[in-house]
Amino acid sequence: RQYTADPTRYESMRYVRSGDSGLKLPEVSLGLWHNFGDITPFDTMCQIAFTAFDNGITHFDLANNYGPMTGAAERNFGRIMHDYLRPYRDEMIISSKAGYEMWPGPYGGVSGSRKYLIASCDQSLERMGLEYVDIFYHHCMDPETPLEETMLALEQIVRSGRALYVGLSNYDGPTMRKAAAILDELHVPFIINQNRYNIFDRTIERNGLKEEAHALGKGLITFSPLAQGLLTDRYLDGVPADSRIGHDPRFLDKNALTETKLGQIRDLNKMAQQRDQTLAEMALAWLLHDETVTSVLVGASRPQQVLDDIAAMNNTEFTQEELDKINEISSR
Ligand code: NDP
Repeated sequence: RQYTADPTRYESMRYVRSGDSGLKLPEVSLGLWHNFGDITPFDTMCQIAFTAFDNGITHFDLANNYGPMTGAAERNFGRIMHDYLRPYRDEMIISSKAGYEMWPGPYGGVSGSRKYLIASCDQSLERMGLEYVDIFYHHCMDPETPLEETMLALEQIVRSGRALYVGLSNYDGPTMRKAAAILDELHVPFIINQNRYNIFDRTIERNGLKEEAHALGKGLITFSPLAQGLLTDRYLDGVPADSRIGHDPRFLDKNALTETKLGQIRDLNKMAQQRDQTLAEMALAWLLHDETVTSVLVGASRPQQVLDDIAAMNNTEFTQEELDKINEISSR
């Protein structure tokens, strides 16, 4: 098989500057946490990646541990790059991360040590067959490692050419502010935060991250914007065998589908229908409506979902009444 990117790929996607930086990201980005491990057919992965790229999704997000098994998503993505996407490397923003459990012993996570970050970044580059990643993230806060050590490791990753930009993931507002001060002093291009944010999960509204990111001019890319599929029509009539809960419940299982949650999903779905959107579209539009949000980082198990997710951009306007209703439903 051969792949040639769709010549119309830049016609409808919108690109937004990540904070005050020079880097623009598509409003919808694709994450490879699920559906790019060794339990998904290689052809399915290719179709998802091609559909994304053909529709202007230039940003592909990975991490050392994405699988199953750990490392598999980077390896599989490396194969897609090698076989098909290599000619488009300069049109792509590829990110990876280190911070969570990766390899045995004290140096393979959970950590922010210099030893772990630099070794892991090298491993990621090797698995993906890349000379550099565009963004390298510290994946989660590590209260045991001095912040300065972690930031100096990120600095070295950039200075040595392994990454162009730095990101922080799962940081809270106050810690991010301290980290940003160190990185600014080192003149390291820290341009983006990656945090979970969706209609159901408002943590970053409470822990200062959202406010600080905006105040400091840093981008914000929101992961699990569909709450791993809960904020879609997937579970309206039970658990489909090919859904995340149905076939890969490592991080989302049927206990998430409480009566309260199902009631919320049904009511949000009704609202979406009134707006002439799918629930997935409305959930993403709700984030894109927010000027603090640079990009929504979706996952997809099939190409059609990518297309539906992109369609969210068609209507990101909300009346105050709709916003209040969404807050009321999500706080039940
Ligand atoms: P989402 O909340 O977007 O959930 C993705 C799932 O939602 C899909 O697998 C699919 O489920 C379902 N879905 C997507 N689009 C549609 C649609 N249009 N209609 C119906 N169902 C749909 O995101 P993820 O939880 O997958 O996270 C996205 C990315 O964020 C990850 O790949 C990763 O890059 C990043 N991430 C980062 C973390 C961090 O700590 N920094 C942690 C977690 C994620 P189904 O499989 O059932 O079809």
